[in-house]
Amino acid sequence: MSEIESAKQETRIFNPPAEFAKNATISGMQAYQALRAEAERDYEGFWARLARENIEWHKPFTTTLNETEAPFYKWFEDGQLNVSYNCLDRNLKNGNAAKTAIIFEADDGKVTKLTYQELHGRVCQFANGLKALGIKKGDRVVIYMPMSIEGVVAMQACARIGATHSVVFGGFSAKSLQERIIDAGAVALITADEQVRGGKQLPLKAIADEAIDMGGCEALKSVIVYKRTGGNVKFVEGRDLWMEDVVANQPDQCEPEWVDAEHPLFILYTSGSTGKPKGVQHSSAGYLLWTMLTMKWTFDLKPNDIFWCTADIGWVTGHSYITYGPLAVGATEIVFEGVPTYPNAGRFWDMIARHKATIFYTAPTAIRSLIKAADADEKVHPKNYDLSSLRLLGSVGEPINPEAWMWYYRNIGRERCPIVDTFWQTETGGHMITPLPGATPLVPGSCTLPLPGIMAAVVDETGQDLPNGQGGILVVKRPWPSMIRTIWGDPERFKKSYFPDEFGNKLYLAGDGAIRNEQTGYFTITGRIDDVLNVSGHRMGTMEIESALVANPLVAEAAVVGKPDETTGESICAFVVLKRSRPTGDEAKQIAKELRDWVGKEIGPIAKPKEIRFGDNLPKTRSGKIMRRLLRVLAKGEEITQDVSTLENPAILDQLKQAQ
Ligand code: ATP
Ligand code: MG
Repeated sequence: MSEIESAKQETRIFNPPAEFAKNATISGMQAYQALRAEAERDYEGFWARLARENIEWHKPFTTTLNETEAPFYKWFEDGQLNVSYNCLDRNLKNGNAAKTAIIFEADDGKVTKLTYQELHGRVCQFANGLKALGIKKGDRVVIYMPMSIEGVVAMQACARIGATHSVVFGGFSAKSLQERIIDAGAVALITADEQVRGGKQLPLKAIADEAIDMGGCEALKSVIVYKRTGGNVKFVEGRDLWMEDVVANQPDQCEPEWVDAEHPLFILYTSGSTGKPKGVQHSSAGYLLWTMLTMKWTFDLKPNDIFWCTADIGWVTGHSYITYGPLAVGATEIVFEGVPTYPNAGRFWDMIARHKATIFYTAPTAIRSLIKAADADEKVHPKNYDLSSLRLLGSVGEPINPEAWMWYYRNIGRERCPIVDTFWQTETGGHMITPLPGATPLVPGSCTLPLPGIMAAVVDETGQDLPNGQGGILVVKRPWPSMIRTIWGDPERFKKSYFPDEFGNKLYLAGDGAIRNEQTGYFTITGRIDDVLNVSGHRMGTMEIESALVANPLVAEAAVVGKPDETTGESICAFVVLKRSRPTGDEAKQIAKELRDWVGKEIGPIAKPKEIRFGDNLPKTRSGKIMRRLLRVLAKGEEITQDVSTLENPAILDQLKQAQ
């Protein structure tokens, strides 16, 4: 692959604050390098040491990595454990029984706190209730729940009895839910009567009924319903039960089901940004290990931290950094039901101030929309809130444009808090490439360096390493404990997607493009491999042009795609959302010209978008990621025939269809 040219030179560097570095779990670059060196010297020994130190094993493992059926790798194979035991019982023994585990804030602001002792009791009761319904180890349970304590309890209870959960985000349609119930072969569904978002009550049980009525869910025997609002729901005799009845009279102790290290803890479908969602299957031990280590390394978690990850439990971020990681390391965490814009766009900042959050982890899409909101309304600008409790910020889900990073750094972190830009995927189970807050000098827009033990590299189409400064394909060269084990029910697709023949079935293919800085070796994600643009033989990542656009003071968000072009092979089409309302007519033409010139100056004439279309928003997955594959179709002027099951806002497609 030829070089991705003109990769924007980002020269701003932010060193870890001295105080932070002094007290950090990984303190200074030397400590980081030492861990990396340990992994390189003795890869299996490194992971075995960490697995022994971090997990409480019921039966210790004797083999670390089994590669005989590669790429179906097995880690700590003969060990036995229980993930829920590690998250809960261990805290009771370690003196955390009375510590707050969860601070739950409902959409309407009502706060409920739960100690580790209470959470343990709730999980045990529900686990006993599931067992009483005949649900057992190896069964699959689909969870279609609002953000709630009950959602976390449901996941932990499944883990406790060895049932494999598959959480489906509460914003998904009946069709998406039905497909996932069928694909997983679920025997039970845990849902709620309704969910509440932004002051509105939205159905869940009714959608679940619709999904089941579509047919094909024959394996499904029980539907357990958490009463969130008391809204009116239909009940099917013999199938549907209230959660409160399932737990009634159940003891608050439940002997955990000891499972093998490789036992599937969960199946989770990817976001569907690039195609039909894949049912990613994760293990128990390897996954747990990495969620714990990344809590300690990336988030530098300390006993007094108030940790807040704003993701939904329907995404992998909610699995690793709400349900499992924080509890396994004994953290106090915030769980939030609502949306960032209700009752106003200051909600996040208000919650940080009220709960004295110390670590805040959110997505670029939220940051970009809150920048836009703060620009439009002084009252919700973060400067009006006391954010002094914060000590660390994080970003996940998409590349964060340098200008959004700077806003986050200045306005939320007040230039005190490091930002960890964590690159990872549903498939990787936890962070892969990320700064360490007490060690890594930060560069806006770069996820910097791989965590110790993660052998990430940038290669060409034949799998050969590329020198720094040349953009290519992001791969991981060695298996790691928390990696995807297979695609549920489709091992062939697993092999083809992640360990393709072109790379000798040996390199894990992330599907993203990356470039490493010539001096620092830092990684920057350039966009999805499928999204690389080729204009007159110049290869460019989408991220770079989008970041240049977002750096313009008028622009809130931008997405760039290629469009076939007779003379240049491909031309650049940019979809832009302004901070102000959508321009039309002459004004649109005028601003488009301004932006074109701007990109020309920022990157070079070759990167100037040939066409710019303005929208009120961009097509996004329900997890907030831009779906460029749909924009590619629109740019070409074709009708969309692809899978749009995970698209959040279908109406926007019509608006963006027209060239302006
Ligand atoms: P699908 O696999 O179905 O297309 P998806 O890849 O969006 O969906 P996820 O697993 O939720 O599903 O997202 C992982 C992807 O998100 C990564 O491959 C990468 O493209 C992007 N991503 C996540 N975090 C970052 C980050 N910090 N910087 C850049 N990109 C990121
Ligand atoms: Mg993906």
